[in-house]
Amino acid sequence: MLEKIRRDAILTSAETGRRVLDKKVMQAMSDVARHKFVSEAYAEYSYENRPLPIGQGQTISQPFIVALMTDFLELEKTHKVLEVGTGSGYQAAVLAVLSGQVYSIEIIPELGKSAASRLKELGYGNVEVTIGDGYRGRPELAPFDAIIVTAAADKIPPPLIEQLKPGGRMMIPVGPQHKVQQLTLVEKNSQGEISVREVLPVSFVPLTGEH
Ligand code: SAM
Repeated sequence: MLEKIRRDAILTSAETGRRVLDKKVMQAMSDVARHKFVSEAYAEYSYENRPLPIGQGQTISQPFIVALMTDFLELEKTHKVLEVGTGSGYQAAVLAVLSGQVYSIEIIPELGKSAASRLKELGYGNVEVTIGDGYRGRPELAPFDAIIVTAAADKIPPPLIEQLKPGGRMMIPVGPQHKVQQLTLVEKNSQGEISVREVLPVSFVPLTGEH
């Protein structure tokens, strides 16, 4: 799987501006056992570089996209991270390896509950999963060093921009539902000014809820 991630990183390097993904990110991708985040029926495909169904019409994202989004967040062990779209909990586990604390929100209760118990069983003690609409984020815990949204939004949710720390980074797929979206990097500088850069065309399941 790591080889396929490296190959995709090289193939897309002209668009993403990153030829090589950070060593720590690649190590985290190797440390987290992706087969533990899918049902037995899909376990044999879990190290292929593609999304897989996780039930409720949702998917666990393609490993390269998980690695790339994580890489752009430039996480540190002291960072507090917000994830919108827990799904299987896989991306949250990768974030947990690289940061201090992860708060993940899932709108489908069945998925959120099973991801929470899976993460606990696997020993990812620094992830808290809540059930709800991630559009609003977790204002009571803000600001976050990094925010990652793993479902497609047609615009960047203003509450999430608000909850990003000065100097913080957000990765989010932005664009029309069920079509191609642009994986987008949002940066807030120390003065609180926002800059936005489109990184790569992607295809994510839609952000539902209030959005
Ligand atoms: N990060 C996940 C993983 O590692 O398995 C994959 C996420 S899947 C591509 C997108 C997830 O976002 C789905 O589980 C979906 O239910 C969730 N979602 C969609 N809209 C949401 C919202 N408004 N708030 C929170 N979660 C949402």
